[in-house]
Amino acid sequence: MSDAAPPALGGEREAPTRSQAARGKAEEGRMRALSLVGDRKIELVEMAAPPAPAAGEVQIAIKAIGLNHIDVWGWRGMAFAKRKLPLIVGVEAAGEIVAVGPSPDPSAPATGGMTLKVGDRVVAYGGLTCGACKACREGRDNLCENVAGIMGFHVDGFARDRVNMPARLVIPVPPSVALRDAACAPIAFSTVQHMLFDNAKLEPGETILVQAGGSGIGTVAIKMAKAIGCTVITTVGDDEKAKKAKALGADHVINYRTERFETITRKLTNKKGVDVVFEHVGGEGFNGSLLVLKRGGRLVTCGSTAGPTITFNLMQLFQQQYKIFGSFGASIRNIRDSLAKMANGLLPVIDTELGLADLERGIARLESRQVFGKIVVKF
Ligand SMILES: [Zn+2]
Repeated sequence: MSDAAPPALGGEREAPTRSQAARGKAEEGRMRALSLVGDRKIELVEMAAPPAPAAGEVQIAIKAIGLNHIDVWGWRGMAFAKRKLPLIVGVEAAGEIVAVGPSPDPSAPATGGMTLKVGDRVVAYGGLTCGACKACREGRDNLCENVAGIMGFHVDGFARDRVNMPARLVIPVPPSVALRDAACAPIAFSTVQHMLFDNAKLEPGETILVQAGGSGIGTVAIKMAKAIGCTVITTVGDDEKAKKAKALGADHVINYRTERFETITRKLTNKKGVDVVFEHVGGEGFNGSLLVLKRGGRLVTCGSTAGPTITFNLMQLFQQQYKIFGSFGASIRNIRDSLAKMANGLLPVIDTELGLADLERGIARLESRQVFGKIVVKF
């Protein structure tokens, strides 16, 4: 439990105990939670359920958790992450409101409008932003100057039966969208929405290279780019994934283990290069990603799964007038837009659905890169 977590968010400060009885639903003031107790060690525990929500808060019964690469980072243990164990995991989730706190002071903009009610299906923004700084007021939530941490990574997350959240961080799910799918909106969908449209400013008719198109965010990027009429080139690590990426609508799929994506991408674009590269792999492939950009092209990246450090040619950067965007997280508006896209039929590709006790197996599967699409854990 991190000291940075506002008390209302973490429930009572009772140390979780490993439970023989961590099997049923929240009852008698107790609930189940998945707790990271050490590097690569998650336990299903029973602990105190949160108290009734305070003013400006709602209580959510969690129904589904989406897994992301940030779960792998957290599970492996990262030297730079400021956190204390044990820590409840789960960075993105969907659920149903089961209690609503008293109405907050309406003159305080940070508390937001309490229009939410019991029974509403919702997702939540997992960055504990201040709601008051310039970035927050302007809707650039992921640039909050006073963020108290990312739930599930720095402070307790969503993998538990019940959680109290500030209403201003809670977003309703459209009626036609299943909670399993909605659980992929707060991180996976919104991250891609932010990368493609806020940062890279992808336009209809442009050509984009999506690196690692079989990953959770890669599959979303292919679908979002195709939905606005882009030409999509993507890379995958095996022929089975190539077939699936093609079925998602990718125009050209390159198996990067058997072919050089730089050569093929340049050929496919008549040596001009692509308008945008969607990067999240880093490592050796990053220079290749720069090489396939057209002059003035944009590269947007949110990850470095193949390695965080590279060298690249600064002359190439300025002579070719590349624009490189680092992207991390998203805004609440990006989550709303993602849910609206889901309501219009742009749904996540689900690789696997797991039960609560199997969440750790899901993280291991993500780490092994055997996935095509998203892994969702259901409560
Ligand atoms: Zn802020």
